[in-house]
Amino acid sequence: MEEITTTSWIVYGHERLLEMLPDWNPKRNELKLQQKNRRAGLAGEERVLEVVRSSGLPNDSMVLSDIRLQIIPGVTIQIDTLVLTPAIALIFETKQIAGRLRFVRNPAQLEKVEDNKIIQSMDCPAAQFEDQRASLETWLLMRGFSIPVGGSVVFTTNPIIETIPQGLPVIKLRELRRFIAQSLQFDPVMSRREVEMLANTIRSSHSPYIPFPLFGKYGFDPEKFDWGPRCDCGYLLDKTSEMTWSCRPCELNMIDPYVKTLLTWFLLRSKTITVKQFCMIFQCSRRTGVRVLNRLPLMRDGKARSTYYEIDYHQLDLFES
Ligand SMILES: [Zn+2]
Repeated sequence: MEEITTTSWIVYGHERLLEMLPDWNPKRNELKLQQKNRRAGLAGEERVLEVVRSSGLPNDSMVLSDIRLQIIPGVTIQIDTLVLTPAIALIFETKQIAGRLRFVRNPAQLEKVEDNKIIQSMDCPAAQFEDQRASLETWLLMRGFSIPVGGSVVFTTNPIIETIPQGLPVIKLRELRRFIAQSLQFDPVMSRREVEMLANTIRSSHSPYIPFPLFGKYGFDPEKFDWGPRCDCGYLLDKTSEMTWSCRPCELNMIDPYVKTLLTWFLLRSKTITVKQFCMIFQCSRRTGVRVLNRLPLMRDGKARSTYYEIDYHQLDLFES
């Protein structure tokens, strides 16, 4: 079982962004709300993955998460969780909408209801799911994999759903285990080897959504921010010697704020950093700069004084240690 994940890096990057953004910034509230939803979405996806993993899938199954595939130029589908079994491929789309919900048709919409009044109306997730399901089925067929595609929208927040129209692919998290068990009753159409080939085909076609560096995306001016190392509390660290920093409010000493600080730089500001920029952020010698940068999973380019280091946004997981 394996996952491809960029969503968690997008969440991490926005966490760092909010840490730096002062209270008075006009975009702060909106970004904070978006981040709250993003975090809830990620938590929902993780809960679905947990259930999927403990649902007694056959050994020759594979679970992929956070997949983006280009169906035709300009049309991309994003799949939260994809379970590949020898009998069927299952898509699970996570939704975290709480409260009282009502599915309506013509046009297909999902309404959020309070005191019998519609307070929010959104695109029907079941209709979106069906588009995705059909798109994936076509994509697979075009690559020679003739396997049925099923699955469902999964509500992780336990909403009250007034009525689910017959046959609509919508379940709650606690029904997921049973749903998977039922889906596995079909006869296998692929061997273990073919499931692996299918997983590899999907992995190599995966085109992750990369919004980095976030400052470019939101139009913030990097010169107006302090890029120095920060404590987990958000406070800028004081340098106490060549190799140590401390946080005044937390009364903590730190010896290695490099990775977090550099990730913040790469995810927010730029995909490259020069040794000079590094030395300015950390107020350190060139020697320390080169030593720290050389031991990180970065590409080095440029000569002598113009040496710079570049991150590969597709390989962010190398930093998870
Ligand atoms: Zn602190």
